[in-house]
Amino acid sequence: MPGNLKPTIIKRILRQHLLLIIFLPVFIFPSFTSADTIKIGLRAHQGIEKSMKQWEKTADYLSEKIPEHKFIMVPLVGLTELMQEAEQNQFDFVLTNPSSFVEMELRLGASSILTLRNKRQGNPYTKFGSVIFTRKDNNDINEIKDLKNKKIVAVSKPAFGGWRVAVRELLNEGFDVYKEAKQVSFSGGIQQDVVSIVLLGNADVGVVRTDMLERMAVAGLIKFDEFKIINKKSTKDFPFALSTQLYPEWPFVKMRNTSSVLSKKVALALLTISSQHPAAVAGKYIGWTVPEDYQPVHSLMKVLKLGAYQHYNESPTEHFIEEYLVQLVVSIFILIGLIFMTIYILATNRKLLVVKNQQDKLMAELEMRVAERTQDLQIAKELAEQASNAKTEFLASMSHELRTPMNAILGFSQIIEYDVAHQQMDLVKDNINEILVAGRHLLELVNDVLDLAKIESGKYELNLQKVIVSKSINDVVSLLKVLANKNKITIICEFENNDDLTIMVDLRSFRQALINIITNAIKYNQVNGEITITVHKQNDSNCKISITDTGEGIAEDALEKIFEPFERVSNRTNIEGSGVGLAITKNLIEIMDGKIVVESTLGVGSTFSFIFKQAG
Ligand code: ADP
Repeated sequence: MPGNLKPTIIKRILRQHLLLIIFLPVFIFPSFTSADTIKIGLRAHQGIEKSMKQWEKTADYLSEKIPEHKFIMVPLVGLTELMQEAEQNQFDFVLTNPSSFVEMELRLGASSILTLRNKRQGNPYTKFGSVIFTRKDNNDINEIKDLKNKKIVAVSKPAFGGWRVAVRELLNEGFDVYKEAKQVSFSGGIQQDVVSIVLLGNADVGVVRTDMLERMAVAGLIKFDEFKIINKKSTKDFPFALSTQLYPEWPFVKMRNTSSVLSKKVALALLTISSQHPAAVAGKYIGWTVPEDYQPVHSLMKVLKLGAYQHYNESPTEHFIEEYLVQLVVSIFILIGLIFMTIYILATNRKLLVVKNQQDKLMAELEMRVAERTQDLQIAKELAEQASNAKTEFLASMSHELRTPMNAILGFSQIIEYDVAHQQMDLVKDNINEILVAGRHLLELVNDVLDLAKIESGKYELNLQKVIVSKSINDVVSLLKVLANKNKITIICEFENNDDLTIMVDLRSFRQALINIITNAIKYNQVNGEITITVHKQNDSNCKISITDTGEGIAEDALEKIFEPFERVSNRTNIEGSGVGLAITKNLIEIMDGKIVVESTLGVGSTFSFIFKQAG
């Protein structure tokens, strides 16, 4: 984007609208004119009124010479506005200063068809330059280097002869006016104002185009000798005060889309205009000539980096950065914003993922716990059901076992009653005996059940002590000797070298367990059978007590049942017993940290063993 388009949009719109209001008739008029209206954009550097007075007759002259068209001048004071209108194809031709033309040439493809032969002091001039001046009485300023820290004034920054030519000349002489002058100001308006400002002492130095001072002197506005010319140059055939090199005069410019036929007609008309013609007189020119070489203008613009040459000799990067600085900064901000946003989104995603994973994990754990809990509950339910069933079975068995002796007692009591009524006293004694047997059995049963209940409820109190195994066995064997003899059973104790083995047990419970097992070995033995009791060391630390009988044995599938209460598996129903002895024994052994095992072979015999840890 060229530098002269950089002002803010608001400023630009205001300026455009201001111009629109001022020159409304000029802008509106062409739109009502016929298609044959030819518009000539005019740089009105002296103001609208003066410029129109100077140039409208030339437009009339062209209309007269080329009657199929109506030529009108469209004056614009500012070069920027002139350029903008040209960009929007508002003109067919343009009459402007050389640097403005070069800009249009470079950017819009315009071309010069003629160069003005300016009339000064009655003579034609096709070249002009700048004049740098100060007041004659200013003794501080005599040459270019004296301009340092001085106030310099010119008409406008884009003025060609009125400023740019001088700037370039000063630069050639090693003086950068923008850096070294104290102040550079632009009067705006017309160049004559610059002369007045210097004259009034409001600026030290002025710059105007050549012949301006002479013209004002002729008009009686100033006295020429009131001024001192800085960097004065004298050039052959150029009689005016001059501080710089000369540049070609204003060109008559054809815009790119203007037809070459029309351009040729215009060029011919202007080339042949007489210097006496009112248009030439009003325009203060002698006439027009073929286009001058505008290369010096190009080189000036390159040096000053003006217009299309603003980035001349700069690296493309530098140019790019300057040109697109705003876009670049905005893009970088957007990019940074996007990067931050992306990072934020990624971080949020990650957090969400972590939270989701945690949730999944918790969910899985929860499901697992629910499954475990459900399983536990299922097991608990099954156990509860089993316990309930066991309890029901136990109660059923117990009531059956209790009922049997009770019925016997009741039955024999009735018989006794009958015997007594019929004076059969000899039978009474036998039947009382039966009642006694049934009563004892009932008592035994009740005691066993109470013992079992006590053990199972954990209320059974143990008094653990070191007990010599062989001694306890001998005591129990002598206690049961009578029963063994009665059943013709021989009891053999084989302690070998283990008769001093000790275990930690509750003596009463241990003896009770021995009594139960040895009693069974006697009860379920055969006539003339044997019982062998052995004590062994097992694995060095254990003590194994085995009671082996030569009885009927127990079927394999009944082995598990016999430790349940009221489970009696023997076919011999005449053998006394409650079916609770083994259940009590197993419980007693286990609460004393022991173990009971059974091995049996039907028809051969059984071996019940207790295993205890040896006491220290
Ligand atoms: P019981 O009072 O009937 O003897 P137990 O609980 O002591 O009750 O024994 C349960 C059952 O185990 C017995 O009824 C019997 O069928 C069987 N039993 C126990 N000990 C022996 C053994 N030494 N030989 C064969 N069967 C036995």
